[in-house]
Amino acid sequence: MKSAWDEAAAPAADDHVGQCVYASRLLGADQALVLHGGGNTSVKVQGRDVTGAEVDVLHVKGSGWDLASIQAQGFAPLRLERLRKLLGVDALTDPQMMNELRCASLDASAPDPSVESLLHALIPDRFVLHTHADAVLTLTNLDGGAARIREVYGEDALVVPYVMPGFDLAKHCADLVAEHLAGHDALPPVMILMCHGVFTYGATARGAYERMIDVVDRAEEYIAANTAPVSVPTQAHEAEPVDLHTLADLRKAVSRAAGVPMIARRVATPDVLAFCRRSDLADVAAQGPATPDHVIRTKRLPMIGRDVAAYVDGYAKYFETHVGARDLVMLDPAPRIVLDPRLGLVAVGRRAKDAAIAVDVYRHTIEIIDRAERLGGYRALSAADIFAMEYWSLEQAKLRRGGAAPEFAGEVALVTGAASGIGRACALALLERGASVVGLDVDPGVGAITESGEYVGVVADLTEPDAVDAAVRTTVERFGGLDILVAAAGVFGRSEPIAELDPERWRRVMEVNVGTLPMLLARVHGLLARAPRYGRVVLVGSKNKDAPGPGAAAYSVSKAAATQLARVAALEWAADGIRVNVVHPDAVFDTGLWTPELIASRAEHYGMTPEDYKKRNLLRTEVTSATVGRMVADLCGPSFRATTGAQIPVDGGNDRVV
Ligand code: ZN
Repeated sequence: MKSAWDEAAAPAADDHVGQCVYASRLLGADQALVLHGGGNTSVKVQGRDVTGAEVDVLHVKGSGWDLASIQAQGFAPLRLERLRKLLGVDALTDPQMMNELRCASLDASAPDPSVESLLHALIPDRFVLHTHADAVLTLTNLDGGAARIREVYGEDALVVPYVMPGFDLAKHCADLVAEHLAGHDALPPVMILMCHGVFTYGATARGAYERMIDVVDRAEEYIAANTAPVSVPTQAHEAEPVDLHTLADLRKAVSRAAGVPMIARRVATPDVLAFCRRSDLADVAAQGPATPDHVIRTKRLPMIGRDVAAYVDGYAKYFETHVGARDLVMLDPAPRIVLDPRLGLVAVGRRAKDAAIAVDVYRHTIEIIDRAERLGGYRALSAADIFAMEYWSLEQAKLRRGGAAPEFAGEVALVTGAASGIGRACALALLERGASVVGLDVDPGVGAITESGEYVGVVADLTEPDAVDAAVRTTVERFGGLDILVAAAGVFGRSEPIAELDPERWRRVMEVNVGTLPMLLARVHGLLARAPRYGRVVLVGSKNKDAPGPGAAAYSVSKAAATQLARVAALEWAADGIRVNVVHPDAVFDTGLWTPELIASRAEHYGMTPEDYKKRNLLRTEVTSATVGRMVADLCGPSFRATTGAQIPVDGGNDRVV
């Protein structure tokens, strides 16, 4: 591991908080050091409070901030003297400790301080950095790990046996530090916490940071020099094609165990498959996470194979065994990590973002387990220790910080024609209500309609069966299944009277607006039938279906035919709980079909201003693509739970339709 410190990019040396932010971001940028909100950092500075009194301040990472993106306001400024006094107290409960930490803050609007604040306070050095570096965890999680740490670091490391993070760990470290300083001038350069992570510190941020890099580098060198070679080359593990219904069944079973729809993301790279196909998988994966705070992302154990009922039983037994006399409510017993020799790794989360975090955490766990096994044997913490962390109120608070889940959290939507206009508006409306969305379009712009991590854009032509198959496969591999299909893709074609119809243009409009639909519906039916709640289809029709316009033969006929297809689907699929409804928009001018020039020329044709022309409906209201997107999202929601086969105008009221 190499230092990434760039003196030219770092803030001035006397900007201590800036230096700490810079070092924190360097650590956060490397997933081999910390993952998704893990780790914490601090800096001690002299300041003045509002009375003008001098005060020593510990700026410590706030909970909920990620080291990779932290800013100065992500640190809580705490009175150092007060923190050190707290270390003299014999015992503090978690709520007492958090209360004291908050009350020690100089800024009431600062984030909640890290649960490790007291540990940062007791270390005398100005800068303190804490990571869960993979290479160090590989050594601390070995059978006989403490001896290996001694072998690698000798007198350079203060080794701290595992103690639950928080007040108890801080007290324990305070005793060890006092004991050490009684016989030495200074602390050893690093503190290694068994089965947890590593602390480094120094008078400068660069010094503390480069010490962290050095610690990790020494661990990596030791591992490289002492691991047995891999017996099976990972290239030998190729992913096999998997039936999408198998994945959707798995997601449905896991969602049922969780009590809510969940996102499931599959990873089947050669390294992951090699791990999932180990003959000793059940033994090595039954140890638990490499550092305790990963438990909230992965649960203590992965599910091996696909027997969700057995996993749920096992989880309930684990809860019963360890809850003791404590008044705790069991968390949902659904797995977060599935390891299957055929499927590979399937990570489960409430949102796509959570599943992605679980993927990252477990892929690092795989590497740690794999290397530790080749060094002599992976040994994680006891089930009791992991349970204490999983049900620790301060860890649960990290998950709750996200707030209540939105309406469609855990549900997956596929939207065609998503690059622009109504399709784009539908995709955005569903995203806003918490769905994970795949947008499909021939327009390459479909990938860029949002930066949301819950969205994937796929460039595909609906008239090409292979491209549609690939898009559906992406949806299922990425999110686990499908709950909602919005068919919004369509073309208007040129305005031309029947007597002058161009057969090729007629065929094109009919093919895109109708011809592609049966194939798409057929491909997604089995997935929608496996939706954890129920499947929904919304077809974007047109006012033209009930009120056709002269010159729009192909378009009007295609929308009428598509509507009829949706009605038949409503009849055929009701038994599977799938609702199929149609919206009929009209005069939606903020789409690619309409340019300002075209609107002006049509308005002139009717002797109207463009503004009046846009509102020529009974309600005199402008219908935008966002209006239609909202209606489509509403149709997928619980208010329409008992509605199928319906056709809803979104046209401001039209006297030919009413
Ligand atoms: Zn930690």
